[in-house]
Amino acid sequence: MRMSNMLVPTLKETPMDAVVVSHQLMLRAGMIRKLAAGIYNYLPLGLRVIRKIENIIREEMNRAGAQELLMPTVLPAELWKESGRWDYYGPELLRFNDRKNGEFCFGPTHEEVITDIVRSSLSSYRELPINLYQIQTKFRDEMRPRFGLMRGREFIMKDAYSFHVNNECAHQMYWKMYKTYYRIFTRCGLKFRPVEADTGNIGGTLSHEFQVLAESGEDAILSCNCCDYTANVEKAETALQPGPSGEVELLQMEMVETPDKKSIEEVGGFLKVKQEQIIKALVYRTGEQLITVLIRGDRDLSEAKLTSFLKCDSLEMVTDQETISKAGLTMGFVGPMGLDMPIYADYEIKNMQNAVCGANREDYHYINVNLGRDFTLKEDSFLDLRFGQAGDLCPRCKDSKGVYQEFRGIEVGQVFFLGDKYSKSMKALYVDENGEQNPMIMGCYGIGVGRTGAAAIEQNHDKDGIIWPMPIAPMEVVIVGLNLNQEAVVQTCQQLYDQLMDKGVEVLFDDRDERPGVKFKDADLIGIPLRMTVSPRNLKKGEVEIKVRSSGEIIYEKVDKAVERLVELKEADLQEIAIKCNKE
Ligand code: ATP
Ligand code: MG
Repeated sequence: MRMSNMLVPTLKETPMDAVVVSHQLMLRAGMIRKLAAGIYNYLPLGLRVIRKIENIIREEMNRAGAQELLMPTVLPAELWKESGRWDYYGPELLRFNDRKNGEFCFGPTHEEVITDIVRSSLSSYRELPINLYQIQTKFRDEMRPRFGLMRGREFIMKDAYSFHVNNECAHQMYWKMYKTYYRIFTRCGLKFRPVEADTGNIGGTLSHEFQVLAESGEDAILSCNCCDYTANVEKAETALQPGPSGEVELLQMEMVETPDKKSIEEVGGFLKVKQEQIIKALVYRTGEQLITVLIRGDRDLSEAKLTSFLKCDSLEMVTDQETISKAGLTMGFVGPMGLDMPIYADYEIKNMQNAVCGANREDYHYINVNLGRDFTLKEDSFLDLRFGQAGDLCPRCKDSKGVYQEFRGIEVGQVFFLGDKYSKSMKALYVDENGEQNPMIMGCYGIGVGRTGAAAIEQNHDKDGIIWPMPIAPMEVVIVGLNLNQEAVVQTCQQLYDQLMDKGVEVLFDDRDERPGVKFKDADLIGIPLRMTVSPRNLKKGEVEIKVRSSGEIIYEKVDKAVERLVELKEADLQEIAIKCNKE
């Protein structure tokens, strides 16, 4: 393709509203343009990256035996009501009415639709298993769309859904998809980790996220330094850390005045105790029921863990005084004594001695509170509820004293074992060998296409621009012609351009009437892996200059060997990735 008639509106300045590198560079390299918050146009070069990632995904999904189909983006409410998610999904689901006042939503994910297709087309155990996928535009009305394609409202996703006769078969597919994801992200040239994950809005019982390691990642991942346990921080199991060493004198409990001191910081500061001495009591609503959760003052509660322990569909922290008052409590002064609602506590509460907690009376706290003496909880009320953190002992390898290390990651894909969550509520049944009807067992598997491209930039860039991994680069080679008013330069460029295309190399010819500096800057910014410069000076020696974007290496090559050399360089890159891919 010739740059002079392509739409590649590169920018010199970094746009003000772009904070992460991938967003900045995609805008500057003329790959995307914002249309509205979280909604982007994909310009020609950006779209080429998207299509390449899609093709890798497609090849690997097909190889794993999945079949591609395409579902609509506009979905009728009825199916969502049937699964129960119309009420549960929340404001991320963009809902609207058509001219006949029929209720619709823009699909954020497609479990309902695929289940409807399968239940109406398949009914026998002989027709299962089946794995169906699509690559399609989703809409989620994210509260804070940001970081360009990383967290858009409209974005392209590959979503796959598999249906099985039993758990064993569904588990086999789960791990097959896990391996397929390994191949996909390796083929995209990414450094990533599969991590144990929460199942969130999608539901189910087993899940892994594929996290691209990058400082700018929104997710925190904990990984044991001894065993291979790796999990998202909201899911990472925490072991009960060793309690206080030596005998501690249990002091007399006392109610003390703490006027208007509500937050952990205020109470700690006022009573001059460390935050880890305070029992934080959080009130949550699940359905109609209020519950209280106790956690050490300096810790954060993982709502993902709480939701999964309670097996509840909805969980919401109560922050309004009105609801709290109805339960006879005062916001900021809630404590475990005399509470008339279910109480759950993080394991660490067991280690706390002479603690501080709310007195369930405005402007008062208790000090020197001790579990067992001043309040009791049933053993099964103690749960692993807090976020893990770096330095915590790994619960999976107690003897070897492994500790957690923290990494930042970008979630590019997630696989879920769903079980019968959708097939039961939506009656996706099959008839088994004995003529009996059973719900199908399902799995689902998503990949964010645009987010994968953005993550590749987060991992591969320098101060001059993007450094695309070869398999997903918008073009493989860029030819920069200098002094294009000279016939010899134009002719050589044209000849090499044609030969490269004949060899199946994707080549961009920068034939613009621009200064060399502008062309070099743009080539670096766009991040094309190989650059070939044709200049009068080198042509005099019968040579061209080849620059490798990733290493900066400069190679001078005879004009008639240049194409061969570029093909070799490209193949070497792809070969290296293919080897990694087949290792796993
Ligand atoms: P997140 O936790 O980042 O909000 P999610 O867990 O809700 O994502 P899934 O339902 O697992 O997302 O969707 C599958 C994949 O789609 C994700 O792994 C991610 O790569 C991509 N994805 C999800 N939300 C967005 C978004 N707002 N913008 C771009 N890609 C997204
Ligand atoms: Mg996810």
